[in-house]
Amino acid sequence: FNNKKVMVFGWARSGKAAAQRLLELGAQVTVVNGGEFEDDIVYRQLLAADVQFINHDDAMSLNTTFDYLVKNPGINYETALVKQAEKLNIPILTEVAVALSSFEGRLIAVTGSNGKTTTTSLIRDMLKSDGQKVTTAGNIGTPVCEIVKNLTADDTLLLELSSFQLMGTPDIRPDIALITNIFANHLDYHGTRENYVAAKFQLTKNQTTNQLLVLNADGQDTDDFIKKTHAKVVAFSRINNEYTVRTDSVDLIISGNHLMPLSDIKLVGPHNLENIVAAVTVAKLAGVHDVAIRHVLETFGGVKHRLQHVFTDNGVTFYNDSKATDIEATQTALNSFHQPTIWLAGGLDRGDDLMRLLPNLLHVKAVIAFGETQQKIVTVARAANKPVITVDDVEQAVPVAVKLAVTGDVVLLSPAAASWDQYKSFEERGERYVTELKKVLGL
Ligand code: ADP
Repeated sequence: FNNKKVMVFGWARSGKAAAQRLLELGAQVTVVNGGEFEDDIVYRQLLAADVQFINHDDAMSLNTTFDYLVKNPGINYETALVKQAEKLNIPILTEVAVALSSFEGRLIAVTGSNGKTTTTSLIRDMLKSDGQKVTTAGNIGTPVCEIVKNLTADDTLLLELSSFQLMGTPDIRPDIALITNIFANHLDYHGTRENYVAAKFQLTKNQTTNQLLVLNADGQDTDDFIKKTHAKVVAFSRINNEYTVRTDSVDLIISGNHLMPLSDIKLVGPHNLENIVAAVTVAKLAGVHDVAIRHVLETFGGVKHRLQHVFTDNGVTFYNDSKATDIEATQTALNSFHQPTIWLAGGLDRGDDLMRLLPNLLHVKAVIAFGETQQKIVTVARAANKPVITVDDVEQAVPVAVKLAVTGDVVLLSPAAASWDQYKSFEERGERYVTELKKVLGL
């Protein structure tokens, strides 16, 4: 990027990090934003360094041409400025491409439709527990441009990447690439399944024979990837016994050795077992010892707000699945338990048919409903012949749940709805739940 003219589109955290990194790399930077520019310390620093700030409409009439457009991954390719760049054959990148241009260490990159954050977190903890130095960034939270400056050729960089980020990272070449699974859930942005799969293929497109591609043998599209990639393919499977890392009905097995009984694994749910087998496969390829893997699996209780084990009190286990903002996520959560479950649900009404949850209520012993979808939850509970109590919000649901719970029960917040009817975000909803639980239980 040295001496290149680069337009950074989007003035959020990743745009700021990209602009700063581009300056360090010697680029001439222009920042474009749809709305106002927040007048913060980064803005002033960049202004002092001769960075130009212009709004989107003015950018459309600029006569200068640019070598690259670096856009926020959330900005649609249909946006006028992006379309114009496309027409002018200006490469459209994301901040990940800027960051990776100077990185020389070992790169492990994770993408997929579901389970990215969980799998990435497991891999990170396994490498760390093994004493390896690893830095995690990308879709998991930290822009890669924020941390890349401090990395050397001896470092391992572990990235979680969305397909939106991947589309703007054409030169990526991971030493170990992992595709957790591919579901057709992001089609509205990518248009067709082919486009979506193509965006995921981007992760392995530049890989060569001495690099590794880890694939889910239980999923679809694997054959296509195996045919097209130049990387060495390592497949994992939760159910098929021809793979190096797999499970049987009682144990997690690595290369024929029984590593640990499944009952010692803290994460719950068949979907997480799939994430575990994926993470263990990558960890083994990265040289992690079995003892570190076992330690992480015994202690890792899930990523915050994602079917997260909060604590066990008096034999009752409490889970926070506030991230479950759609029916599928709550189905996954309810299917993860065989113990009597007190289910807390409700939130923003998007018009979904909540009766789809009916088959998943087998182990539910009581339902506590709140929020805009309260009456829909009540209807599902009644159809399943389950006792149901209505309350105003999550905070009110907590003491009711605690009172109903006896030893051996699970208390699960899995709303099957977004939080915006009552809370700023699913994070806030989850935090309030945990805070209230601690208050009521005196922890
Ligand atoms: P991502 O980072 O890809 O959004 P997360 O690890 O944050 O994925 O998990 C988010 C939700 O996706 C989980 O709470 C669960 O409902 C669902 N999920 C996670 N892993 C899987 C999987 N392997 N298969 C199906 N669904 C999954």
